[in-house]
Amino acid sequence: MAGKFTDVIQISESVYVFSNPEGDVNMDVPGTVVPINFWAVVNEKKEVFIIDTGFDNLAESIVGYTESLGTPTAVFATHGHLDHVLGVKVYKKAWDIPAYIDSREIEALKEGHSPYTSKEEGMADLYEPLDEEMLKRAGLKAYFVPGHSVGNTVFYHEKENVLLAGDMISNSEDILLPPAQRYTLNMDEAIDSAKILDVLKPKYISTGHGRVPFMEYKEGMYRDMYWGFAASKNK
Ligand SMILES: [Zn+2]
Repeated sequence: MAGKFTDVIQISESVYVFSNPEGDVNMDVPGTVVPINFWAVVNEKKEVFIIDTGFDNLAESIVGYTESLGTPTAVFATHGHLDHVLGVKVYKKAWDIPAYIDSREIEALKEGHSPYTSKEEGMADLYEPLDEEMLKRAGLKAYFVPGHSVGNTVFYHEKENVLLAGDMISNSEDILLPPAQRYTLNMDEAIDSAKILDVLKPKYISTGHGRVPFMEYKEGMYRDMYWGFAASKNK
């Protein structure tokens, strides 16, 4: 069964973003939808790694394209909220590959409270803790950036200077935004964690629900978001 149509955009030589503008109903603003972005990274051996899964229907829609890039090898998830992990069932069925997530997120998946998947989905059993060897094989570095969730992680493709930021932050066309308030565990911590942007100084950044699938990162963007958030709190 084909899923919803999903766009594929190449960010750099090895990094692709799957973008679905109709991805998700935005609970913060009823009646609107927010996009869902997730990623594929290809290494020099043409092994393909999926980062975040999308919902099942989105996952279905990228299976064929992913195979055209090379050999599907593993899945990594930035955190365990349902739109980032549910599609793993599709990938496991198609390719029987391992899936990795921060161990704190596995614990949260076991508890199964929204916006995590429910216990009945059995997601905790489908993921294992992040594996350094496998990350290295993908050309990725994982950074622990708690706040949006307890074990929230971003993945950095160092060689091509691309940051896959998941829900650490969000973005519109040209500014960074805090992640969706409603689904964020500790917003102050999330904003603090995002200072990693000015440490890594990525060339490109792609977020899980950005209005554009990726953007150039410029110095000052984090600072502007930080002060914008501080001002909104003092209202
Ligand atoms: Zn989330």
